[in-house]
Amino acid sequence: MRKRFAEARRVLVLTGAGVSAESGVPTFRGGGQSAVWKGMPFDKISSAGMLERNLPEVWEWFNYRRGVLETIEPNPAHRALARWQDRFEDFTLVTQNVDGLHQRAGSRSVVELHGNIWRARCRACRAKYDLRERGESASRTYTCTECGNYLRPDVVLFGEMLPVGAFERAALKARECELCFVIGTSALVYPAAGLPEIASAAGAYTVEVNPEPTPLSDLCDEVINGKAGEILPLFES
Ligand SMILES: [Zn+2]
Repeated sequence: MRKRFAEARRVLVLTGAGVSAESGVPTFRGGGQSAVWKGMPFDKISSAGMLERNLPEVWEWFNYRRGVLETIEPNPAHRALARWQDRFEDFTLVTQNVDGLHQRAGSRSVVELHGNIWRARCRACRAKYDLRERGESASRTYTCTECGNYLRPDVVLFGEMLPVGAFERAALKARECELCFVIGTSALVYPAAGLPEIASAAGAYTVEVNPEPTPLSDLCDEVINGKAGEILPLFES
């Protein structure tokens, strides 16, 4: 494995909730966990239908989640992946996480399959806003300074499609890579879960890093059960 790592030129990494969980970010998908907020299950408050019915409530939930994230720091797995971007000729980091911790650790050009909780976008004109710059924590609904329409979190909600182009970009890189890591994801959420399948079918060596086996384990050439923050730095030595 170390030899493959040392010699690889084109590497793709897919990360999921497990990587964030090592920083203490609550995970809401997978593992049979269900979160309830104000008596509402997570998949209901974070749904496309809720956006139509009660946008202020959606904002209140996302403002709450950002508040939780403000106290959370990237972990050794995030930092290792930030180093990898300068180590390989072609490195692609694809994440299902919306918390922005990869960027905080220094990763550039992350392919965000499910958006980013620190961004809002206009429901009418597609203008995007950095919520860190807006700096408001009140639960009121944000409006677009370009056109005056309501903003929404720039996050893929339950019942919505992935952002246009993000998965396609990731799939293209998956076909080209020689080494593919699947890290901290239960691999149940399609189409993201299809990326290692694409990489494997195109001949890449696939490595899973996860505390427990997943439905993808059989597909991978190598399975390393453990915490990403402990395992990833080992490849570099
Ligand atoms: Zn607008």
